[in-house]
Amino acid sequence: MTAATTATATAAAGSGTRPLAGKVALVTGGSRGIGAATALRLAADGAAVALTYRSRPDSADQVVKEIERAGGQAWAVRADSGDAEEVWASVAGTVERFGRLDILVNNAGVGVLGPFETISLDDVDRVLRTNVRAPFLAAQAAAAHLTEGGRIISIGSCMAERVAFPGGTLYATSKAALTGLTKTLARELGPRGITANLVHPGPIDTDMNPADGESAEMQAGLTALGAYGQASDVAATVAHLAGDGGRYITGASIAVDGGFAV
Ligand code: NDP
Repeated sequence: MTAATTATATAAAGSGTRPLAGKVALVTGGSRGIGAATALRLAADGAAVALTYRSRPDSADQVVKEIERAGGQAWAVRADSGDAEEVWASVAGTVERFGRLDILVNNAGVGVLGPFETISLDDVDRVLRTNVRAPFLAAQAAAAHLTEGGRIISIGSCMAERVAFPGGTLYATSKAALTGLTKTLARELGPRGITANLVHPGPIDTDMNPADGESAEMQAGLTALGAYGQASDVAATVAHLAGDGGRYITGASIAVDGGFAV
C-alpha cells in the first residue's frame, strides 16, 4: 500500500462527503496498484467494494482491512481474469454479498512487451484473455444487474490510442479493443441510463511500471508534466466517473497521463 493511496482514502473519508453511499462497486485486480487505490477511493466515497485478485490474497486482505478500519465494507474474492467461470462468479458473488451492483471497474491487466516477431501464441492468448475477454465477460455479467445510474469503467492505456512504442503491439492491441467495447456499450446501455467509459493511464508508479524502473526516466520525460503519476491520480478520475460528476459522460476515453502525447 503506498502512502498516496492511503492519503487519498483518508482525505476522502475525512471530508464528510460520501457521494457513493449506498452504491456497490466491483474492482477487478484490486489487490495492488491502480486497482487497490481505486478500491480504497470508492470505499472512502461511501461504496461497498468487492475486489478481485489472482495471486496475492495477502495484498487483497490488506486492502479489505484498510477499508474496514476506515468504517467501510469490503470483500476480496479470487478471480483469475483468464478464467471465465471465476469472472462470472466474482460478479454473482458481489451481488450475493452486497445485494446489488452499481459500478464495475475493469482494472486487472497484464502487459507483455517485446518485438512483434518474438510474441508467442501463449502471450497472445494470455494477454487477450486478461485484458479483453475478461472485461467483456465481466461487463456482460454486470449489465444484467446494473440499473439506472450504473457505471462500467475500464482501465485502458495511453498506448491504446495516444502513443505507440516499439515492443507494445500486443499490449496496445489488447487495450485498443476496450475502446470498441466501451463505445458500443455506451450505445447499447445508454437507453437504460448506464454509462461506459475508459480511463487511459500514462506512466503510473506501480509494480507493473515502477517509477524507479529501467525506462522510468524516459517515460517521465515524455510527459508534459515531466513526472510519473500515482495510482491515486487514476483512482480520482474513476471516482469522478463513478459519481454524479459522471452522469453525462459516456463512451469517453479520458487520459490520466500527465500529457504523455500532447
Ligand atoms: P499491477 O501489476 O501493479 O497490479 C495488477 C493487478 O491486477 C493486481 O491486483 C493483480 O492481482 C491483478 N491481476 C493481474 N493479472 C490478473 C488476472 N489474470 N486475474 C485477476 N487479477 C489480475 O498493475 P497496475 O496497477 O499498474 O495496472 C492496473 C491497470 O492499469 C492494468 O490494466 C494496466 O494495464 C493499466 N495501466 C497501467 C499503467 C502503469 O503505468 N502502471 C499504464 C497504463 C495502463 P494480484 O495482486 O493477485 O497479482
